[in-house]
Amino acid sequence: MAKLHIKKGDTVVILSGDDKGVRGEVIAASPDEGKVLVKGVHMIKKHMKPRRQGEAGGIVEAEGAIYASKVALYCPKCGKGVRTKTKVLDNGKKVRVCAKCGAEL
Ligand SMILES: [Zn+2]
Repeated sequence: MAKLHIKKGDTVVILSGDDKGVRGEVIAASPDEGKVLVKGVHMIKKHMKPRRQGEAGGIVEAEGAIYASKVALYCPKCGKGVRTKTKVLDNGKKVRVCAKCGAEL
């Protein structure tokens, strides 16, 4: 099964496109598609059908999926999006660390 380096709840920085440089929280990750949803990023208009009778349909704005390769995990210590690597602790537990400063992310 495909795995993403990004997971729900992560803070990421957008690397390319209109939202380049924007920081946001990952609200959903789809490893199968290799895509993520980042709060407030790549807003797209969605047409909603009325769910109940008498309710007006309309257009709502929602986050659109972006490729996980277009985002980098944010490192508070470096103050920017960074590459990550996996570090194995003495107890065998694996943690994600910043490839630059080594901070646990
Ligand atoms: Zn760092």
